[in-house]
Amino acid sequence: MATIMHVDMDSFFAAVEQRDNPELRGKPVIVGGTRDSKRGVVSTCSYEARKYGVHSAMPIAQAVKLCPHGIFIPGDHKKYAAVSGQIRSVFYRFSPVVEIVSIDEAFLDMTGCEHLYGSLEDLGRAIKEQIYETVSLTASVGIGPNKFIAKLASDYRKPDGLVVVRPEEVWDWLAQFPVKKVWGIGQKTAEILASWQIYTIADLRRCRRETLVERFGKYGDTLYQLARGIDPRPVEPESETKSLGRETTFETDISALPKLRQVLAELSAEVGYRLRRHGLWARTITVKLRYHDFTTITRSASLPEPVNNDDDIFSTACQLLVKNAGSRPVRLLGIYVSQLTSFGQASLFSDPRREELARVMDELNTRHGRRVIYKGRQLPLDSGGK
Ligand SMILES: [Mg+2]
Repeated sequence: MATIMHVDMDSFFAAVEQRDNPELRGKPVIVGGTRDSKRGVVSTCSYEARKYGVHSAMPIAQAVKLCPHGIFIPGDHKKYAAVSGQIRSVFYRFSPVVEIVSIDEAFLDMTGCEHLYGSLEDLGRAIKEQIYETVSLTASVGIGPNKFIAKLASDYRKPDGLVVVRPEEVWDWLAQFPVKKVWGIGQKTAEILASWQIYTIADLRRCRRETLVERFGKYGDTLYQLARGIDPRPVEPESETKSLGRETTFETDISALPKLRQVLAELSAEVGYRLRRHGLWARTITVKLRYHDFTTITRSASLPEPVNNDDDIFSTACQLLVKNAGSRPVRLLGIYVSQLTSFGQASLFSDPRREELARVMDELNTRHGRRVIYKGRQLPLDSGGK
């Protein structure tokens, strides 16, 4: 039987702000935008703010109405990413098999390491203590025989919680939860189940497998298993080897930086498009240059948070290019992205219009099976672009 641990930081961004500014402690802190930000959404709020009904993904304007005396902070993503990195280093002290779910959440596969701790409770306490010693923040920890149970357990006694669910306890413990707590059940599925008088996991167990498959397709089978506490999904550590890239060899060597930059923009857009099509984010950007004399160099930069937007990929790649080109003629230019993960942060602090633009461009390019829409920086220099 596997032992999976889920660690989830408590109201992470708000907790970091309260840690660094004692005046904010005990107060409703809402991170995601200033009080007057029109399009902002709440990315995290302190437990004090939750009492007023504020929650993440809520428009800032609505949070202002619910909690007029709240303290609204735009947020410092760089700082949170740095703290997240410190927490990550604690995870790897406990297990090499770590799946980073998001900036403040991870699964650790502890199977086979149980004997290193007096009990599973000791294990949970140990990681909570080490996280607190490292970053002075509390985490909630859930331990169970699989990812579904571990995640449910970490959420069970938030904040600063520790819940261990042993395999023999799963059946009874799980029965109480509303179906919405089941992985993959959203509003729509919950409504369908409610129309069948199914509200809890205990209710869900009364559904025959065939009925669920008939209504929900393949997911019906997953649902049947999850209701019984069965979840075979493995903890998937990030792969360091996977990479994705594009390169191009020029017919004649190029030294002009603007021209190289334009090609790089084009390559970045293709790589970004492929990442998004695969639902992947990349943490490392590499530029490959082969000079006229066939000397080849690669230069990489790692980012605090994984990215998959053309702008992020291009701006990082461009800095690498500028440092290494311009003086010698270039024969080949390439860009690679690596340290891929399928769990990117949905750019909480970036401009939502930019994400929307990427989505629309991808859609058009996919629909037409070729690139029909370009950003200005990708336009050929001699056709009016600069
Ligand atoms: Mg959290």
